[in-house]
Amino acid sequence: MHPFSYTRVSDANAATARVAGHAGARFIAGGTNLIDLMKDDVEQPALLVDINALPYGSIEQTPASLQIGALARMSDVADHAAVKSAAPAVSEALLLSASAQLRNAASIGGNLMQRTRCAYFRDVANACNKRAPGDGCAALGGVNRLHAVLGGSSHCICTHASDLAVALVALDAVVRTHGPQGERRIALADFYRLPGATPQRETALAPGELIVRVDVPRANAAVNSHYLKVRDRASYEFALVSVAAGLDVAGGIVRDARLALGGVAPIPWRARKAERSLIGSPPSQAAFARAARIALDGARGRGENDFKIALAQRTVVRALEQVSA
Ligand code: SF4
Repeated sequence: MHPFSYTRVSDANAATARVAGHAGARFIAGGTNLIDLMKDDVEQPALLVDINALPYGSIEQTPASLQIGALARMSDVADHAAVKSAAPAVSEALLLSASAQLRNAASIGGNLMQRTRCAYFRDVANACNKRAPGDGCAALGGVNRLHAVLGGSSHCICTHASDLAVALVALDAVVRTHGPQGERRIALADFYRLPGATPQRETALAPGELIVRVDVPRANAAVNSHYLKVRDRASYEFALVSVAAGLDVAGGIVRDARLALGGVAPIPWRARKAERSLIGSPPSQAAFARAARIALDGARGRGENDFKIALAQRTVVRALEQVSA
């Protein structure tokens, strides 16, 4: 691990000013991802700005939305009664993430900012355009069983690591930020960037901009939502494929549908065409199978990860079955 400086802040303006004014600075809250990457020399920050004293740890429900502070811990959010009733997919996604110890330490903002689990990214002996732009991508000709079948580029085919982000994207969550230019609201669906030719640029955040809250709008499809995760082992493992699904069914007809996939793309993958295919029809097996085909439209395997396409389709169907039951 490289030497670094450390400072604590209790004021949001001071926090953003410290990071915006220092190219090698990073915010740190739980540190469950960043410290690992520092130990592996993947991240080499010169300054860590500890934001744990900032007032962003609350979880509140208003008539319009569920408001989750960025410094709330994963375990507290997962167990919160308002989260379980207003957006069960969020609670389920959190409980299926990491381990109990990590969930007690990791923050919501940090979860959304976690880096990919691509093994080549995490091993500095391998070429990785995300870690060292222009170096190449070892995954393209390497072991790619866990890599993307949607949204990748000739520069990067990693998958996004966050379960929570998949659930939040499906439920139209909005990220509230504080930065040197003031406050912003960013739809989480617009927050993450596809890799294209610049896989090192992962989010819409400006230098020094900090996530302070996540708002989940109230919706029947959020109340009736579910997160289904398929992985190689039953705990402490990242998704091979995951699906966040929500349905609002009234009078035997789907009025609203939400569908997002994890483990298949470099970003949480919202399947809007598939959602539209469900709206206005009865929630039937045929409709679910059609939506699953549409959700994976354009998917391309690279050999070892071909299985993800069929697996993702089956997972979409099963998640929809569960929210329509
Ligand atoms: Fe790096 Fe992306 Fe290639 Fe993985 S898939 S080695 S993260 S460029």
